[in-house]
Amino acid sequence: MDVQEIIGLTAAQAIAAIERGDLDAVELFSAYRRRAEEDELGAFTWVAEHLPADMHADGPLRGVPLAVKDLFCTAGIPSQSGSKILEGYLPPYTATSVARLEHAGATIVGKTNQDEFAMGSSNENSAFGPVLNPWDRTRVPGGSSGGSAAAVAAGLAPWALGTDTGGSIRQPAALCGIVGLKPTYGTVSRYGMIAFASSLDQAGPLTRDVTDAALLYRHMVGTDPNDATAVGHPEEIRLPTAERLDGLRLGVPTELTSGEGLEPGVLAAFEATLETARGLGATIEECSLHSAPHALSAYYVIAPAEASSNLARFDGVRYGLRREADDLVSMYTGTRHDGFGAEVKRRILIGTYALSSGYYDAYYGRAQRVRTLIAREFASVFERCDLVVTPTSPGVAFELGAKTADPLAMYLNDSFTVPMSLAGIPAISIPCGLSEDLPVGFQLAGPAFSENRILDAAHALERAIGFDGSPARTRTGATS
Ligand code: GLN
Repeated sequence: MDVQEIIGLTAAQAIAAIERGDLDAVELFSAYRRRAEEDELGAFTWVAEHLPADMHADGPLRGVPLAVKDLFCTAGIPSQSGSKILEGYLPPYTATSVARLEHAGATIVGKTNQDEFAMGSSNENSAFGPVLNPWDRTRVPGGSSGGSAAAVAAGLAPWALGTDTGGSIRQPAALCGIVGLKPTYGTVSRYGMIAFASSLDQAGPLTRDVTDAALLYRHMVGTDPNDATAVGHPEEIRLPTAERLDGLRLGVPTELTSGEGLEPGVLAAFEATLETARGLGATIEECSLHSAPHALSAYYVIAPAEASSNLARFDGVRYGLRREADDLVSMYTGTRHDGFGAEVKRRILIGTYALSSGYYDAYYGRAQRVRTLIAREFASVFERCDLVVTPTSPGVAFELGAKTADPLAMYLNDSFTVPMSLAGIPAISIPCGLSEDLPVGFQLAGPAFSENRILDAAHALERAIGFDGSPARTRTGATS
């Protein structure tokens, strides 16, 4: 197989080719390693120099290369979560989710760029600089898993790991025209993920198609003695086969689909996809999530509150950067002043304020009550509907720099993804068409642990939509 043929394969197809004897795992790894090394998009923060000695090519994933978001700890491999404060940090151990995948035969080909500590929606808050969208290099890839999304879309990796706290898998997947699955909270271990907001953080796959998402996710789930919140999955994750949606009831929440700020081209692609779903036998019903308009406000209290606590550990003593000073407090403040970027500092300030005595009930307590309402409203919608569907993001990929001066404009990118995060439920984004030559994402969310249902529906839709992601692979300019 020549390189073009190799990079044209999804991960599942590459595995099948290896099993048939048409493709060699070492050849596959070398092809992607070279692509990652020639990355012109800023997608990678580290690329493997050679094939690892302990590659598990006999596992079910057959040695297929995997790109891993920088925030996963990988033993002996730089892991900075996109932050200068973790400069030079080499973790002594590997995150459970990554270790599971390696055990199943995935081979780390590189670490991917991201917004610092996963705070952002454009990948512009990274100590490594921005990532360019392979569909249009003047635009952002989305964030915070922007490097993972761009790498997969551009064919610099067959698939990638990301994390999603409020949309960081789904939104970049949407903006780059690929598939991104945010699993049910707790189905994948968080051990070894550099924490942002612990009650929301979830790892998940970014892939070229729904089958690859199921395949990668299936090898990530499980309990973990190192993470008490990791409960695994009650079902075996199946590779999706559905071609129809007969009898499936799709709920369209009015609060999330008629709001201002939704670009007309995105709405048009969303509505066309509803028609496609109807053609496959689904019924479409309006439903209501009354509190969804407050989700973003609640999220931007809860996530910074948890972040302010999680990030207290970066003090110059234990990890990465240290600014020497005459006394301890000056060492702490100098290190944190120089090590954290502006958005991270903003979140620490907001979070510390929201948790401070006298304000705790007014902000944090209230945000938690909104969270409970949202979870209850989803539960009541799921009594009548099998899945809830929305556009993934209100707009297509925007120009680099367009929203960096306006945090609120940036936060609004997550309006449609944050409600599911607060409720802890699974959701997938699949590409559903183009608006102004840029990809649009379609989000399907279901009750906790309904990944098999979501993957099946997404698979049937994906087949009917027939989205062509190849422009992103040819426009990158990556050689060979
Ligand atoms: N963009 C959102 C934020 O900045 C979500 C990020 C995420 O999911 N990690 O918090």
